[in-house]
Amino acid sequence: MENTKTADKPKKSKTLYQKLFELQNKCLTFAKSADNPFFHSKYTPLDEILKTLNPALKEIGLLIYHRTRKSKVITRIMNPDNPAEFIASSFPIKEDLEPQKIGSAITYAKRYNIGQLLNIITDEDDDANSSSEENTKKAEAPKDYSGLTKDKKFCDVCGEQGVINPKTGKSFCPKWKEHSEKGERWDLVDENTKKFLSDMPPSDHPEPAGKKVKHY
Ligand SMILES: [Zn+2]
Repeated sequence: MENTKTADKPKKSKTLYQKLFELQNKCLTFAKSADNPFFHSKYTPLDEILKTLNPALKEIGLLIYHRTRKSKVITRIMNPDNPAEFIASSFPIKEDLEPQKIGSAITYAKRYNIGQLLNIITDEDDDANSSSEENTKKAEAPKDYSGLTKDKKFCDVCGEQGVINPKTGKSFCPKWKEHSEKGERWDLVDENTKKFLSDMPPSDHPEPAGKKVKHY
């Protein structure tokens, strides 16, 4: 600590991987400030990532850019000192999206690509979250429905596979009690819908009004 020589560090051009290594050594942390209501998870929004990342990229000398081509968002991180050096990631955009959803799909794709390229974990799952106050409620033993036949549909709130009530033949989320305690309105959806919901940022999926909390 007595002799920090950052001021007269020689400005030699470094390779892409040297720069990426430098970036990694900064151990940047990203605030997981946004909530994904579908999986009770928190994630880091793109602007939050960029707020932290951009100054570091500038300092180290790395360029990040995105292109949309053929229903894909392609993100490159390149070395301006040697433009031939880059790493890239691409993420598909669903072709049949409504126009107003394309913007957030692109934002999501950029965030995903940056996360992949820089090995940034931008999502927090339930386990990682379990220390938070909200999740301590889960410690109560839930009723065990594991003996019941599973449905082909999944809960749009927690992602659990639905189970079938042998008496009524109707399927329900095994965590329905937990949901109703929290006032959450859930529905069973098919696998594709579940995947779509869990992949999308929450802003696209305001909680649908009018779903009733039922008892099982
Ligand atoms: Zn559920």
